[in-house]
Amino acid sequence: MRISFLLVSLLLLTSCSTDPMLPWFSAPENPCIELPDTTINAVANYNTKYVFVFVIDGPRWSETWGNQGRQFIPYQNLQLLPKGVLCTDFINDGATVTVSGHAAITTGCYEDLENTGGELPSRPSLFQFWLAKSDKPKESAWIITSKDKLYVLGNCKDSSWNGKFSPSLNCGLAGAYSGYRDDFQTADTVLNIVSQYHPYLALINFREPDYSAHQGDWYGYIDGIIDTDSLVWSVINFIEADPFYENKTSYFITNDHGRHLNEVQNGFVSHGDDCNGCRKISLLSIGPDFKQNDSVSTKYSHINLSATIAELMGLGREENNGKVMWDIFK
Ligand SMILES: [Zn+2]
Ligand SMILES: [Zn+2]
Repeated sequence: MRISFLLVSLLLLTSCSTDPMLPWFSAPENPCIELPDTTINAVANYNTKYVFVFVIDGPRWSETWGNQGRQFIPYQNLQLLPKGVLCTDFINDGATVTVSGHAAITTGCYEDLENTGGELPSRPSLFQFWLAKSDKPKESAWIITSKDKLYVLGNCKDSSWNGKFSPSLNCGLAGAYSGYRDDFQTADTVLNIVSQYHPYLALINFREPDYSAHQGDWYGYIDGIIDTDSLVWSVINFIEADPFYENKTSYFITNDHGRHLNEVQNGFVSHGDDCNGCRKISLLSIGPDFKQNDSVSTKYSHINLSATIAELMGLGREENNGKVMWDIFK
């Protein structure tokens, strides 16, 4: 049994390395750590037509879903959880920093990227794959971020995709190297973009609570969790009030990374290693194809989120690098 499994795996690997449809699997420097899921069902007809991903930057599980009473995330806990499904064992399985955490969602690969915005991901993103496949204008896909350095999510190093099918970007105060923007401004920007362009696919980053935590400001850190919780709720309400999106949209609320446990280095102030505080994050998924008022305890990571978005958006195996989170579906 085991030998035949190994043989099948070897055959799969061999066929992947010679398959012209899957160029990144043949690259020796391939940073991807999961093999494709052969059960991907890209022909399925989902109710989901649009996807919004919210990345709240750097809260610890212990101050969000793991906090008794979940007092700092009342909107997610009391308003959104009844409509969605919580993954209780969701982790960042790569570098626990901002750029790598976000890029794992957009590319389906864990890769150790410069965290300054000075390095593009190796692999093309879901945004590029989807724009190429759908033939929609770039205004149909958006990356809207409080942190300017996340503009790198719009492009990749891969020479056959570099500069091609890039999504629309609205990052930081005024794009690359312009500085971070306040999250309330970012939320306003999202509402304007939604009204004006009606995106099919969007990733939104809020810089809090990471920003205040790095300053050693515990109360600012907690306020950052409370504020981003309410911003996500307001933005989702705004989108769902639009008949274009109503009951046809899936929302994912997650994090790029957590923060150190109290006994690790300087505790909540920093992050970046593999302590359980940095690894353990959250994912709440809400949409017409998902379970409601439920939770799943399967271990998942950013790569599985990436694969699930690809599945919902009709991308096939060649664009999809991980296992879909099938058990969040109805
Ligand atoms: Zn940080
Ligand atoms: Zn840590």
